[in-house]
Amino acid sequence: MTKEIPGLNAFPIFLRVEGGVVVIVGGGDEALAKARLLGQSSAHLRIVATDVEPSLNTWIAANGAELIDADYSPFHLEGARLVFAATGSEAMDRRIVEDARKAGIPVNAVDRPDLCDFYTPAIVNRAPLAVAIGTEGAGPVLAQIVRARIDQLLSPSLGPLATLATAFRETADRVLPKGNSRRLFWSAFFKGAPARAMEAGDAEAASHAANELLSGSMERQGHVALVGAGPGAEDLLTLRAQRLMMEADVIVHDALVPEEVVAMGRRDAERVPVGKRKGCHSKSQAEINALLVRLGRAGRQVVRLKSGDPLVFGRAGEEMAALRDAGISYEVVPGVTAAFAAAADFELPLTLRGVTSSMVFTTGHDLKGASLPDWAKLAISGATVAVYMGRSVAADVASRLIDAGLSPETAVAVVENASLPVRRRFHGTLADLPSLEQRADLTGPVMTVIGDAVAGANFARSEPLAIHRNLAPRIRHGADA
Ligand code: SAH
Repeated sequence: MTKEIPGLNAFPIFLRVEGGVVVIVGGGDEALAKARLLGQSSAHLRIVATDVEPSLNTWIAANGAELIDADYSPFHLEGARLVFAATGSEAMDRRIVEDARKAGIPVNAVDRPDLCDFYTPAIVNRAPLAVAIGTEGAGPVLAQIVRARIDQLLSPSLGPLATLATAFRETADRVLPKGNSRRLFWSAFFKGAPARAMEAGDAEAASHAANELLSGSMERQGHVALVGAGPGAEDLLTLRAQRLMMEADVIVHDALVPEEVVAMGRRDAERVPVGKRKGCHSKSQAEINALLVRLGRAGRQVVRLKSGDPLVFGRAGEEMAALRDAGISYEVVPGVTAAFAAAADFELPLTLRGVTSSMVFTTGHDLKGASLPDWAKLAISGATVAVYMGRSVAADVASRLIDAGLSPETAVAVVENASLPVRRRFHGTLADLPSLEQRADLTGPVMTVIGDAVAGANFARSEPLAIHRNLAPRIRHGADA
């Protein structure tokens, strides 16, 4: 049996109030709340009350509403499109409801649902675009939660973009035949260059781009957003990242980005995994670059989703260069890098007053040569070191740093699967670090943080690295990788 969705008892519509009058009877907080809500419209507000609270009075003065300082009388409702009874007295509200109904005007009695002809929604306002949320009495808190979620998803620039669309509507209808080409134009308008220009705050460029689209001199242009997906937890995605994923035609993602995060994109977006995980078949960087260029040329809106921050060990430099060379527009959206997620999981201050004021992001893969890289010198002078992709070089990192003079007792924190519920935390010293290489039980990505600041972390929820020290006691010397 298919599940039936129950019918709505209140059906949403958008009521024209432009040039009309809306009456609110009452002078207290409820009246003010309704005044604020209706104040988002261009209706003329008439407020009828003898006893007006100062905050409402201020609002009326600031918003040019009309105040009728008189006892309520039915003729105050004359010509109104809507009436709100917000007197606080049930008998009075009931009277107003009856009068309004007699005059054929829809009426709402505040906090008296059974007297209401209609309910007011929670509103996400991007005028002329509006999203109205109703719950039929399940409660304003639910409505506000939903409102907040939708608010996050919709760029503030959608309002001006919708206004621009209104200005183009007639010309588009005239110039473009009904059907596919009109649909393609509007899709490119709302997702392509005009939308991007508006997002960047340039209304003139948006209008220009829309004209170009209309005159057909500009094919729908592709665009690639290099987006940081954060360390793995869905709610560490940025609002901008999510918005772009909702607008994307194609999401090209690394294996390190969890399925749950990729799934936050538009449901019918094409998803292209490009691997990049040890041991899995994956595309080469050159193939990925070529893929992005090809998609951009085909006019697709692409999100290139990378774990953490795209500019930290993400090979974004090569992808940006390829896109630049091909003349394809692109942007970069930062993400929470793994080092920050690991630090949060350990309550580990990456900079610590009086202890360390600098931080190094490294892979440790440059430690093989004869000379010590600069970052190792920084580590010795007290910097906090975050080692990416460091598991297979853990012994090298430890031995080279110890050889160079960093104390074997320097604190080390290791997090596998930082930010995720399945994360594991380990603490120890530099002397314990080599054991990491031998551990077959760590299958997720691993972040290692080294330095005196690590001693300030919270070790209440971490396991000692040293347990495995005896299993793998050797600290390798030299370049015997
Ligand atoms: N651009 C990414 C890093 C990509 S390199 C970022 O900014 O985080 C891949 C390395 O990042 C992994 O080998 C691991 O060291 C680290 N990493 C990524 N996600 C991680 C996670 N959830 N927990 C621990 N380390 C992680």
